[in-house]
Amino acid sequence: QAKAAGRGDFRFFEPRFNDAAKDRMRLERELRQALERNQLSLQYQPVFALPDGRLAGAEALLRWTHPALGSVSPATFIPIAEDSGLIVPIGAWVLEQACRQARQWLDAGLDPGVIAVNLSGMQIQRNDLVDTVSSVLARTGLPACHLELEISESYITRHAESDLQRLGQLRALGVSMAIDDFGTGQTSLGHLRRLPVSKLKIDRSFMADIEHDAAAAAVTRAIIGLGHGLGLTVVAEGVESAAQESALVAQHCDLVQGFRYARPLDAPVFAALCARPQPLR
Ligand code: C2E
Ligand code: MG
Ligand code: MG
Ligand code: MG
Repeated sequence: QAKAAGRGDFRFFEPRFNDAAKDRMRLERELRQALERNQLSLQYQPVFALPDGRLAGAEALLRWTHPALGSVSPATFIPIAEDSGLIVPIGAWVLEQACRQARQWLDAGLDPGVIAVNLSGMQIQRNDLVDTVSSVLARTGLPACHLELEISESYITRHAESDLQRLGQLRALGVSMAIDDFGTGQTSLGHLRRLPVSKLKIDRSFMADIEHDAAAAAVTRAIIGLGHGLGLTVVAEGVESAAQESALVAQHCDLVQGFRYARPLDAPVFAALCARPQPLR
């Protein structure tokens, strides 16, 4: 089969590639069982407002604890979940789990702010997305204003009208939407203006050198200005240093997320943070 596909494909018979392909098949097989075996969990990375450091919410991030391999990086297993279609049931689980958790925090008298859940392209393309989200909200009793859905810019730029209509329906439910990894795709400005989103998350690759490289700082300043011009809230992700924070404060960035403030936290640790008046520093 590989032979028929053309001469270049003989590289598939290299032993190294073969091992990688086997590893991937094994991970896919095991990921299929990870849900029912309770190996998946969520961590919550806090998001803070600038300049005062008020807690604004958190991003739910999926974790897979493999019995033999330990913690497997999302960079490894999310692409496998996407290619195999497993992201659909797994993504539904993430949504339900995050909403149920947020509802529990509210019931405990805490204010977790807005909880963001990442959506994959395959979830957005499905006709049942709006039903899935509205029934999760109904089932968990989470007010829609506490849920945000993050969609990677790389996905937005590849797809058009029908998916955007679905995003509009989500917004009509009262759920907010954010463009994730902004700056890495190629959203046209005209298109951006018509997206039913309320937030831009600047990709963390742009944080490198903003404190001492004028060109790098010009890029984040331009993204923040664009976002504000469109009436959007702008989040910087991957903030690691005080110098980066100062640059972002000077540029009037609205929200920050990054290791400088907190790593992704287990749910009880995030709950403890919600109960405190001041951010982690
Ligand atoms: P993302 O949505 O852009 O999430 C932010 C990633 O940046 C997280 O990696 C987070 O741990 C990391 N990060 C946060 N602050 C810093 C920092 O200061 N420095 C550095 N170096 N990294 C920082 P994580 O958890 O490994 O997730 C990677 C990607 O996997 C996510 O990128 C997202 O695209 C995807 N992902 C994670 N959970 C889910 C999920 O439930 N569903 C879907 N579809 N994708 C998910
Ligand atoms: Mg995200
Ligand atoms: Mg991101
Ligand atoms: Mg990112």
